[in-house]
Amino acid sequence: KGQGKGRSVAYEPAMDQRTAALARLAADLRTAFDTDQLFLLYQPIVSMPGGELFGVESLVRWTHPERGPVGPAEFIPAAERTGLIVPLGAWILEEACRQAVRWRAELGDAAPRTVTVNVSARQLREVGFAADVAVVLRRTGLPPDQLTVEVTETAVFDGGTAMTELRAIAAQGVKIALDDFGTGHSSLGLLRTCPADILKVDKSFVDDIATGGHESVVAAALIGICDGMRLRAVAEGVETAEQAAELYRLGYRYAQGYYYGRPMTAAAIAAFRPAAEHRTAA
Ligand code: C2E
Ligand code: MG
Ligand code: MG
Ligand code: MG
Repeated sequence: KGQGKGRSVAYEPAMDQRTAALARLAADLRTAFDTDQLFLLYQPIVSMPGGELFGVESLVRWTHPERGPVGPAEFIPAAERTGLIVPLGAWILEEACRQAVRWRAELGDAAPRTVTVNVSARQLREVGFAADVAVVLRRTGLPPDQLTVEVTETAVFDGGTAMTELRAIAAQGVKIALDDFGTGHSSLGLLRTCPADILKVDKSFVDDIATGGHESVVAAALIGICDGMRLRAVAEGVETAEQAAELYRLGYRYAQGYYYGRPMTAAAIAAFRPAAEHRTAA
């Protein structure tokens, strides 16, 4: 439309289709939310060299009645656009906290020490989000230090009230993780002003680490920064023993990825044991 009369004509049918598909997705998601088609899986975050369970990251899943599984990379952006992410995110947070309390009751000290919940920029911008987190912690009985709120750099940079809410969450004793670090507008200044406890080094920097590719230089630099700033570094997307060994050699002590475990049910987390081959040689 903005390109003037006539010029956009060729694109309009395609745009209409895309808009219609998005609207349908958003409507289906609303129904999904109301009819229990959404559920959470949990991916292990392990400590190295032993591969023991340290924590979990909750990841939302949707089984669409006709389309089958739809990934969050597709439907979370739709939920953000329509604002559905706010009630959906509140449900995810409460569900994950309840599960953490169940694991503690069931497993005692063998329970994951922290459950990590992804929080989108849109949620963080809601004034009163920190207060909502406090309410959920009280209602579920989860101790604040057993919850980690995971946000992207971009969400924090959003300006406005995001940083205020984040600080208020941290002040309750909840841990803060910066997700996909290095892929957004990374700034070392952000690490000083943002109350981060954990830095998740993006998969793209882990991918070619065993072969010494370009991106691996970033993984090596980031562990130094984390050590210096007393941040816990978690390497994301670890898929091979070679990557794990190289990360460990560089100084990484926490990892997450298909090599250790895919996103799995709460029951599978309860049964999770470090495999002998997951012990990283020093
Ligand atoms: P993320 O927070 O960076 O989560 C990690 C993603 O990488 C997950 O994809 C996970 O399944 C995948 N992954 C983990 N290890 C490996 C690996 O070794 N190899 C490969 N190829 N992939 C790996 P998933 O579950 O499809 O989620 C995609 C994104 O959707 C998440 O990225 C996050 O940004 C968003 N998301 C997922 N669940 C939630 C949620 O509950 N709330 C919000 N706001 N966003 C969510
Ligand atoms: Mg995440
Ligand atoms: Mg991530
Ligand atoms: Mg990532």
